[in-house]
Amino acid sequence: MTDIVILGAGYAGLAAATNLAGRTRKREDVRITLVNAAPRFTERLRLHSTAAGHATADFDLAGLAATAGFTFIPGWITAVDAGARTVRVDDERTLHFDTLVWALGSTADTSDVPGAAEHAYTLDSFADAQALAARLNDLHTGTVLVCGTGLTGVETAAEIAERHPHLTVHLRGRDEPGATLTPKARSYLQGVLTRLDVRVETGADIVKVLPDDADVIVWTAGTRVSPLAAAAGLAVDERGRIVTDPVLRSTSHPHVYAVGDAAAVRQRYGIMHGTCQGGMPTGVHAAQAIARELDGREPRPFRFGYYHAPISLGRRDAVVQFTHPDDSPRRGYLTGRAAVWYKETVSASPWPTYARMLKQPGLASWWPRGGRFTR
Ligand SMILES: Cc1cc2nc3c(=O)[nH]c(=O)nc-3n(C[C@H](O)[C@H](O)[C@H](O)COP(=O)(O)OP(=O)(O)OC[C@H]3O[C@@H](n4cnc5c(N)ncnc54)[C@H](O)[C@@H]3O)c2cc1C
Repeated sequence: MTDIVILGAGYAGLAAATNLAGRTRKREDVRITLVNAAPRFTERLRLHSTAAGHATADFDLAGLAATAGFTFIPGWITAVDAGARTVRVDDERTLHFDTLVWALGSTADTSDVPGAAEHAYTLDSFADAQALAARLNDLHTGTVLVCGTGLTGVETAAEIAERHPHLTVHLRGRDEPGATLTPKARSYLQGVLTRLDVRVETGADIVKVLPDDADVIVWTAGTRVSPLAAAAGLAVDERGRIVTDPVLRSTSHPHVYAVGDAAAVRQRYGIMHGTCQGGMPTGVHAAQAIARELDGREPRPFRFGYYHAPISLGRRDAVVQFTHPDDSPRRGYLTGRAAVWYKETVSASPWPTYARMLKQPGLASWWPRGGRFTR
């Protein structure tokens, strides 16, 4: 019996679990176990919308596991020993593995700036987003400060401003909003922020967060990964992400695959940055590689090229920037209703994809490989 344990049921971990379950459903010598903090799948792409008070769907992981034929354990992973091949859950249970898939994702990085962890809300979990939603609902007048002018900060500020027009929303950070887009797409994005009356303050390095900076403070500036990987004895980069070989195995422990935001996956254009867009293909690839190893075949190298950056600007507007495989912007972009439809289609697609992968795991192996950018 080969024990395969998957840590984390986010976009990448669930892609690995369902794809591997689909690929191994006729085998009786493989046992798959998935461990995740929450009993439900969190659509992290929608947490800014949850925080603004919009309803979200409920995705039951135990039900999916029962259909797929793997074991699901809800619990908090407290320690991993990559050498001894053990995982501790809730400090009281030890799981053994032959192969591990590490998909613990990332969280907002509140560690560097004093006061951020104490005074700011984050969008790391459904519970975090719900806590922010409750606070915003109670506030009949006042200010909201969104720290970080990256895409998560832009989406969050726009969503809150649209849903709570009686609040004054400030968006503060170093770069101008939409800095990575083409000038035309950026100008559209900034125009929508102006229409929503979001007060943008750029050129600012936030060095401290004080409780009276605003009535509500939201932190979206930068991400970090769990220190568990380094503590497990795995080789990690300067940001704590697991360093992978071309197949997505840990360079120090090849029986550990690392996927999604928690992995430092190198392509010819550089280290991939954390997205669902790239995270799901890494999960599918790990499943494919493990299935090949189970069959005594060599796994193939992973190749991926970005293709879009869909950005919601409230519920009624959006921008979709099409990109080159290295994530630099192409000329083409969508705005308005077409972009809203596109963004919604992308955000809604993961859960049905997991169900489909159980039946047709091979179909999910299609994603842009990046052509000459990754060859
Ligand atoms: C508001 C917001 C909007 C975003 N919008 C986009 C977008 O439009 N497009 C895009 O591509 N990306 C977007 N992202 C980024 C995207 O959500 C992440 O890149 C993606 O979720 C990474 O997937 P993952 O599977 O690696 O990690 P996650 O989805 O974060 O999943 C990790 C899982 O591991 C669990 N976990 C972590 N630690 C433990 C532990 N110790 N014990 C047990 N369980 C644990 C977590 O609970 C979680 O379920 C957005 C992020 C945010 C916050």
